[in-house]
Amino acid sequence: MIDCIPFFTNTLPNFMSILIRNGRVITASENAIADIFIEGETITAIGTRLEQTADYVIDASGKYIFPGGIDPHVHLDMPFMGTSSSDNYETGTRAALYGGTTMVIDFILQTQGKSLRHALEAWQGRSNGNAVGDYSFHMAVTDFNDQTKEEIRELIEQEGITSFKTFMAYKGALMIDDRQMIGLMQEVKKYGGLVTVHATNGDMIDYLIAKHRSEGKMAPLYHYLSQPEVTEAEASGRFAALAGYTEVNGYIVHMTCEGALNAIRDAAKRNHNVKAETCIQYLMLDASLYEQNFEGAKWVMSPPLREKKDQAALWGGINQGAIQVVATDHCPFKWEQKLMGKDDFSKIPNGHPAIEHRMELLFSEGVAKGKINLSKFVEVNSTNAAKIFGMYPQKGTIGIGSDADLVIFDPSEKHTISAQTHHMNVDYSAYEGVEVTGKVKTVLLRGKVVIDNNQCLAEKGNGKYIKRKTTAM
Ligand SMILES: [Zn+2]
Repeated sequence: MIDCIPFFTNTLPNFMSILIRNGRVITASENAIADIFIEGETITAIGTRLEQTADYVIDASGKYIFPGGIDPHVHLDMPFMGTSSSDNYETGTRAALYGGTTMVIDFILQTQGKSLRHALEAWQGRSNGNAVGDYSFHMAVTDFNDQTKEEIRELIEQEGITSFKTFMAYKGALMIDDRQMIGLMQEVKKYGGLVTVHATNGDMIDYLIAKHRSEGKMAPLYHYLSQPEVTEAEASGRFAALAGYTEVNGYIVHMTCEGALNAIRDAAKRNHNVKAETCIQYLMLDASLYEQNFEGAKWVMSPPLREKKDQAALWGGINQGAIQVVATDHCPFKWEQKLMGKDDFSKIPNGHPAIEHRMELLFSEGVAKGKINLSKFVEVNSTNAAKIFGMYPQKGTIGIGSDADLVIFDPSEKHTISAQTHHMNVDYSAYEGVEVTGKVKTVLLRGKVVIDNNQCLAEKGNGKYIKRKTTAM
């Protein structure tokens, strides 16, 4: 039995069994001090004073134990706006593990005019053998036609891709019209899948971008002013109406504002099944960041950051169960890449880095500041994403038979976020200098210690592609 990790090595043997003693085990429904026994990749016993002997024992006294975090909205190594997001599957999933996120779901983007299979192969080419943490894919359908329609069933039943992303914006590149949307919804509904959406009114946004540019208004602030709240509220309501009409399971990604939240509350009154995700940045940061000169480009993302009143609405939506998931939309670009839009906000690559800090920021802002309780934290950090995206109870909880994806967390340790110490492949932090309460200490992925004391003990290729089932919600 080894009871501490030798400090001179950065690898651990693959233990056949691990016993974690005396941690406070917290799931979406339970909260108690217990021991967890792991054999191979799986949790096989939970209880007080377990008597199993293990190859390796971890003392978690005074710590919380959470299910591994799930971030269902990331973009790794993604070609976009003439460049590529700067974290690849290795750097991105490794940074995620440092922050307690053991699984991510990335987006495959269909090229208009080509098949879904063609896009899947391109994403497999970049991800295979490279991920450190576990991952899965959503399929973004950007061109729904008779050929695409034929591929839906195969993706759900053979590839474990059960969620289909749509864009109501980015005309000419990613956007589908309402006719294609309805067709896709009806096809996905047949096989029990989920349709997700980037819900903003693309035509309104294109009009406002052109207007601002024609007036010589080129600063990052005009990125924000080109996407007012109404563009998101209108599209969210329209999506919910179409999802209700076709009776498909719907899901709105990166919801930012009160207007969009109220649109799905209205849909819920009509018993339409539309779930919603927000992202950590919309809960913490606001549009005043765009009022500086080009620095504001760090937070140029779509939809943009909103107002303080929207943050209050989103926390309310989480507590009321109208918003089920907190993700990141992690899509980092180095400063040099952001400079592509130095003279024109519409050329700034959209996206910001957050994959590493989602869980600690959500704990610090949410739990430590009293906005959400511990069980809600686990729900929106992990459990609900596992249920909605068809991985529960393999992922998203601490239970007998579940994958041993676990985060041992010190709820009181304070630390400060900085680009000097983060592990993402990007040369600035969107949260530079933010002091956080609560720190990830040890992370297990499928029964293997992958992070311990600020060291990553797993190599690329350790991450596994997870085939998903249809939604359990
Ligand atoms: Zn995204």
